[in-house]
Amino acid sequence: MPTPARPLDAVLAEELARLADAALRRNLRAIDSASDTEVVIDGRSHLLLSSNNYLGLATHPAVRAAARRAIERYGCGAGASRLISGHLDLHAAVEAKLAAFKGTEAALLFPSGYQANVGTITALVGRGDHVYSDALNHASIIDGCRLSRASVHVYPHRNVRTLEAELAATSPGSRRLIVTDSVFSMDGDRAPLAVLTALAEQYHSWLMVDEAHATGVIGPRGAGLAAADGLGDRIDIHLGTLGKALGSAGAYVAGSRALIEWLVNRARSFVYTTGLAPAAAAAAGAALDVVVAEPERREALARNAVRLREGLSALGFAVGGDTHIIPVAVGDNRPALRLAEELRTRGVLAQAIRPPTVPEGTARLRVTPMATHTGAQLDRVLAAFADAGRAAGLLR
Ligand SMILES: *Cc1c(COP(=O)(O)O)cnc(C)c1O
Repeated sequence: MPTPARPLDAVLAEELARLADAALRRNLRAIDSASDTEVVIDGRSHLLLSSNNYLGLATHPAVRAAARRAIERYGCGAGASRLISGHLDLHAAVEAKLAAFKGTEAALLFPSGYQANVGTITALVGRGDHVYSDALNHASIIDGCRLSRASVHVYPHRNVRTLEAELAATSPGSRRLIVTDSVFSMDGDRAPLAVLTALAEQYHSWLMVDEAHATGVIGPRGAGLAAADGLGDRIDIHLGTLGKALGSAGAYVAGSRALIEWLVNRARSFVYTTGLAPAAAAAAGAALDVVVAEPERREALARNAVRLREGLSALGFAVGGDTHIIPVAVGDNRPALRLAEELRTRGVLAQAIRPPTVPEGTARLRVTPMATHTGAQLDRVLAAFADAGRAAGLLR
């Protein structure tokens, strides 16, 4: 007689206790207001420094109005996958707008960035192929690489020498794909896109760039880091999300007409999922117009990031990155949680980021200002960090 399996709940309770012991347990915290510079939690206002709504567009009047109009015209759901009966003229219009924004032939909407990465990578490479991935790439890229069954070469963060050695050591003939975040989500630094582009060309590799954190934020029209670096035309696959700076939900892949046609046929996370909700598509379309028309939002975000990064550094925190994403290094999980908790009691929400989101021993607070934070709000944030840092024993 085989021993019977233990009851599910008993196994999971034990696993959850183990997570809690390692200060790795995560809990949901409900916000009872719009995602804005200040949010309400448990009836109390908190300054929000943990949002990707970088430009404040989630609550922009024109973006809200576009979503409302889309609901009135199309209803709340697309009703089916895009290839069945869920393809709306609204989707086509937003895709055309995204392609123009990115300067590509075509673009394709996905319901999320996670799905866009998994679907695109698995549609392009498979068994016997090679994919080269930065060690700090987003989890959705990692999952896409794993699911593709291609050989995955993970190179140390931004280490183009190791990448080149791996490319040179790969026998020619099979497909190769280099994939990278443009702005790294938890470190706030930038991919060396000029070198990656040159290596991709030299070693006959395709290049895919995930601009989740740069779309709307970086570059002349907010079109991303590739555009800022003048490399847009030399990147095969552009990906970005609509749920961060664009204040909505969903994602896009942009590139050649052939790429988009292939994804329509072969990206399983596009084919086998319901079309992006009309309100989300319309909101993203309206947000794109605001991004292009109001460069002052990008400028305000950059100014706020400098002010916050310099302020935190002056207090004695170890800050990193050189974008609007400011990692405050702590190291161990417990003190990172403690600092976040001390901040929360002082009315500031800045979440601790722990493994497996970041490598072991590199727990941190990920601090992100918004374009719409006022100077007075940032002063309050810095004052709270000074007190909380002392209370958590991280500052003298
Ligand atoms: C957030 C993020 C994603 C996932 O996008 P969602 O639309 O939230 O699923 C993908 N890539 C990167 C780099 C991200 O930061």
